[in-house]
Amino acid sequence: MPRYQPASLDTIAAFLDAEHTAVSERATAFARTALSRPDPEDDEAARARAAGLLRELAEAQLFSCVSAGDLRGVCLTRETLAAASSMADTLYAVQALTALPLVTAGSAAQKAQWLQPLLAGTCVGAFAMTEPGAGSDVAAIATTARKDGSSWVLDGEKHLISNAGIADLYLVFAVTSPDQTHRRISAFLVPTDTPGLVFAGAQVAAAPHPLGRIRLTGCRVPLDALVDDEGVGLALGLATLDRLRPSVGAAACGMAGRALAAALKHTTTRSQFGSTLSDMPLVRDTLARMATELDAARLLVYRAAHRADTGSGRNTLAAAMAKSFATEAAQRIVDDALQLCGGVGLLAGHPVERLYRAVRGLRIYEGTTEIQRVAIARALLDD
Ligand SMILES: Cc1cc2nc3c(=O)[nH]c(=O)nc-3n(C[C@H](O)[C@H](O)[C@H](O)COP(=O)(O)OP(=O)(O)OC[C@H]3O[C@@H](n4cnc5c(N)ncnc54)[C@H](O)[C@@H]3O)c2cc1C
Repeated sequence: MPRYQPASLDTIAAFLDAEHTAVSERATAFARTALSRPDPEDDEAARARAAGLLRELAEAQLFSCVSAGDLRGVCLTRETLAAASSMADTLYAVQALTALPLVTAGSAAQKAQWLQPLLAGTCVGAFAMTEPGAGSDVAAIATTARKDGSSWVLDGEKHLISNAGIADLYLVFAVTSPDQTHRRISAFLVPTDTPGLVFAGAQVAAAPHPLGRIRLTGCRVPLDALVDDEGVGLALGLATLDRLRPSVGAAACGMAGRALAAALKHTTTRSQFGSTLSDMPLVRDTLARMATELDAARLLVYRAAHRADTGSGRNTLAAAMAKSFATEAAQRIVDDALQLCGGVGLLAGHPVERLYRAVRGLRIYEGTTEIQRVAIARALLDD
């Protein structure tokens, strides 16, 4: 056993509590058994597998840290899942993203009707914020919701929505006060069988991940579909993203750790020029840099998660540093791992080739790297 283990809990022990060991063990046991086969290769197969996999995640009690609001537990779970299956990780992440606003701001009735099934994995959730005209600039959302008697009527289009087409429930962000500059946007629970809501097509991503567009046309939901107060939807959505953002970094670390392990295996067993690759100085330099970047990323991720769990108020700066650094580092580490594996690493279905496709989206979703740096610079320059 080498003296240094890249994915060790010891590295991040300063940020964990005693009960986190059990959380990590639960996720590891699940990954070892349920995730031993490779992810589906195409979009259709991924859609067919998703609901069953979500139930398995719930049956393994992996959502207990979401209901408890334990972000370090969510990060440990995502780090482990992402190392084994990017599809399991994204399903877990989107379910957390849909459930957390209900944990923090849902009414008792909404919790009974929707939160419990979300946490039990019997209801597939989706977080529908992004639109063709509103990506990084989420305040530019054009979907509207107007009150009409005892209903809200929603009209608009969402795209790049994870679980679109397989979700049972969409958390939809829509403008309720178009004339106001503040408190313009509200959040609504829209079941998939609501007349006027249609799945407008899949958007096939590089890694298996059900993604797509939905259209809302005169889509009528009851007044109690509103989550929290009218006008606070954007703040609720952004606070949820802020809170869960370190977990995107954790998933990146999981993928990077798996890539580093594959690189170590390959370079310690492959010989060229009469010596193993791992004896060559340039290869050793690359491995050393990969391990150091991974440790740095994990420390930023669990620092941010620890702050979110133990502090009060928004955690924007630490979360932005963790997400941007970890996802960028993971991209480099996975790329280095592929390079070290040589041509076989690029072959379809090789574990590192799968990671290469899976890691890319993390630098984009839940706020791009550039948008995280905008937030970091804003804090640095105090503007
Ligand atoms: C795999 C995946 C899953 C997703 N799942 C969901 C989901 O479930 N729900 C959901 O609502 N959305 C989801 N999204 C959408 C995602 O949140 C958006 O793609 C993301 O916020 C970026 O928006 P955009 O794609 O419109 O890019 P744009 O906002 O158009 O940005 C394009 C480029 O310009 C840069 N840029 C923009 N503004 C600035 C600035 N001020 N300064 C510097 N650079 C800037 C960006 O960083 C980026 O590099 C998902 C995306 C992906 C890839």
